[in-house]
Parts: sequence; C-alpha cells; structure tokens
Amino acid sequence: MTDSNVYRTLLESTRAIPWRIEWATMQFTYIGPQIEELLGWKQASWLSANDWADRIHEEDRQKTVEFCISQSQQGVDHEADYRALTSDGDYVWIRDVVHVVRRDDGTVEALVGFMFDITERKQAEEKILQLQHELEVLSYRDSLTGVANRRMFDTLYPVEWAKARTSGHPLSLVVIDIDYFKQYNDHYGHVQGDACLRLVAQSLDSAASRSQDLCARLGGEEFVLLLPSTDAATARSLAERCRKLVGQKEIAHARSGVGRLVTISMGVGTIIPGDQDDPSVFLDRIDRRLYQAKSAGRDRICDVEA
Ligand code: GH3
Ligand code: MG
Ligand code: MG
Repeated sequence: MTDSNVYRTLLESTRAIPWRIEWATMQFTYIGPQIEELLGWKQASWLSANDWADRIHEEDRQKTVEFCISQSQQGVDHEADYRALTSDGDYVWIRDVVHVVRRDDGTVEALVGFMFDITERKQAEEKILQLQHELEVLSYRDSLTGVANRRMFDTLYPVEWAKARTSGHPLSLVVIDIDYFKQYNDHYGHVQGDACLRLVAQSLDSAASRSQDLCARLGGEEFVLLLPSTDAATARSLAERCRKLVGQKEIAHARSGVGRLVTISMGVGTIIPGDQDDPSVFLDRIDRRLYQAKSAGRDRICDVEA
C-alpha cells in the first residue's frame, strides 16, 4: 500500500468521520464515507458548508455556524457540539473537532475536522440532569404527607419576605397544629396517626390553592401556610377554610379534649415588612398566637396578640 492508501484506510475505518472544507470556496473536498451510515445522507450530497449548516438542528444551527465561522476567521482550532439531522428526520448528537489549516503567510487555507457521534454521552448527561432534578424535587417534599417540607419553607420564606419588602404587598403566615395529637396516636396507633397527618395535610394544601401559596409541614403535627400578597382578612378566611376542610374529613378522635373529631388550632398574621422587621421574629409572633389559640380552648384561630 502507498502512504496515501494507508491514510485513507485509516481514515475511513475509524468511527470518527473526517472531512475537509476549502476556505475560499466553502466547498467540501472530502468527507468520510462513514457519514452515510451515521446520518443517512449520501457521501456525494455533502457539497458545501451550506449542506452542513442545513443539516444542523434548527435550535443549534445559528449558534453553531456563527461560532465555527468566527473561530475559523481568527484561525483558532475549536470544537462544537450540535444535533445533526438524519435523512429520516431524527437527529444525532455530534462533536465536531475542527483544525484550521493555514498557509505560510498565515491566511486560512482550509478547515479539516472529525465528527464524533456523542449521542450516547449526551443521553447519559440528560439522564443525570433529570435524576438530579427529581432528587431536588424529592428533597423539598415531606415524604409522609407529600406537601412541601421545612426545608422548602426555610428556602422560600426569606425569598417571599424580600419580595414583600420591595413590592409593599402584605405577606401572611398561618401556623397550624393538630389538637391532642399525642392522645390520637396513643389511642389509634402510629400508623393511623400517619394517615391522619396525610388527611390534614391534604385539607391544608387544598385551602392554600393559589399558585403562589405554599403549604409545608414544619415537623410533627405542625404545618405552615406561606401566603404572598395576602392581606389579613384573606389570611383569616383561608384559616377558617382550613378548619372547615379538616372538619369535613370527619376524622374520629375519641380522646380529644375538644369534641369527637380531629381539630386544628392556628396562629395567623400579616405583615408588610419594613427595614426593621425580621422574618424569624415575625414567625415567632405567629407561633405565640398559635399557643394562645391552644390555651383559649383549641379548635380556633388567633390573629391578634392577647
Ligand atoms: P396540643 O393539642 O397542645 O397540640 O397537644 P398535642 O398532643 O397535639 O401535642 P404534643 O406536642 O404533645 O404531641 C404531638 C404528638 O405528635 C407527639 C407524637 O406522638 C406525634 N407525632 C409527631 N410526629 C409524628 C409522625 O410523623 N407520625 C405520627 N403518627 N405521629 C407523630
Ligand atoms: Mg398538637
Ligand atoms: Mg405540636
């Protein structure tokens, strides 16, 4: 075999697809025959750089072409990842690795490169991103009740607080605690206690139904509603709605000190945060109202300081 035959055999048997474009004419002077197996387009159909650009996924085309042209003009070797269209309408992820061939005087003579099929790698990357997203979603959910968890509340509360401070819109909080829940557990057992928590969480979550509302389980049998752009009257009626919805579940509670059904107590408050205000001080204040509701007999809402 002559040297050039050796090179040809090497080039055309690798999985990477070699190609060459003359800079002056933007015409392909070579593309490996493997291209047909990868993309379906015949080897002879790759005439100019336009054929290459036309066979790039619409969403990647402009970015890829502009990047490759500007790099080439500056004489810089480069690589680009893009989705190449196949002749049957599908696409394949390609990594194109490009070397700029220059003449002795520095002017660009040609571009030579290799196309690599990186579809599998991209799919693996996408799978990882998707799993990361799922994990993130899970880590902000309370696994028992399915509502948001304390971590979500701790993340969103300062964000909503800052938004309310700049917008001047009122921010409301409702802190909720199930009455005599220890007695419920002692009487009905932990499994039924868990079921009760789920029913209460469902009721609270459906009461806080606007897209910006958050219902989170703070821990144990304590929940919170974070209500952006909500004035005191609306927060109060939302809390009433929570009481009503929990009541409608009619969860029997033979050991309650209130009545025959499971009930909840709530502290409610509204604030337009000023520079002097602090979110944890405000949360503490609402928590105190919850305990006022408890000591005033439970199954009620407290929205003012005693
Ligand atoms: P109060 O009316 O004053 O709120 O009294 P309480 O009995 O509801 O409050 P306490 O804080 O004394 O008891 C809360 C109980 O909640 C203690 C525990 O048995 C129960 N609990 C906390 N977390 C869970 C849970 O994840 N599952 C179940 N089943 N029970 C829980
Ligand atoms: Mg309780
Ligand atoms: Mg409690």
